Amino acid sequence: MKIICIGRNYLDHAKELNSAIPKEPVFFLKPDSALLIRNRPFYYPEFSHDVHYEVELVLKIKRVGKNILEENANTYIDSIGLGIDFTARDIQRQCIKEGLPWEVAKAFDRSAVISDDFIPRENFSNLGKIEFHLNLNGITVQKGNSRDMIFNFAKLIEHVSRFMTLKMGDLIYTGTPAGVGPVKIGDRLEGFIGAEKLLDFKVK
Ligand code: MG
Repeated sequence: MKIICIGRNYLDHAKELNSAIPKEPVFFLKPDSALLIRNRPFYYPEFSHDVHYEVELVLKIKRVGKNILEENANTYIDSIGLGIDFTARDIQRQCIKEGLPWEVAKAFDRSAVISDDFIPRENFSNLGKIEFHLNLNGITVQKGNSRDMIFNFAKLIEHVSRFMTLKMGDLIYTGTPAGVGPVKIGDRLEGFIGAEKLLDFKVK
């Protein structure tokens, strides 16, 4: 399986990072070794001093597909979970400055937190209106809603599948809203879709 991550998919987040507003979706990959499951602790990596949380809705792909059309794309979504795209912001800034790939800042071990539970697509009455939020030590630091995405789920699937075949079990992290920030050892992170808590883990 592969992990596809969408960058700059919320206007307010693109603005907070002074990023250009993309004309088509921007994506990058993480390896399966990046997954952090079962609310296990996130061990702060020694190579960064500025690791940021980015809470994101995550699509689990239902079946194989290539060149998927936007009008059919939502049928390729099996279920929706919650993830955190941990980012070594200090290293990412350096990569961007030097025009280098982002993997060292984005694809390291445990950088792809994923919820154990995924909510079946059919359980959502409107995929374009899914609320989610992240609490840091009990305080809400990020609040998102899929209606505020620059590119909706169907557009993301159409775009990514032009370049790479999607397979059953692939994950698409759909981008983060504003409010990203640093974590430190001892922090507790809790992630919610609506009122349902899907993530609850500590930084060690
Ligand atoms: Mg992200």
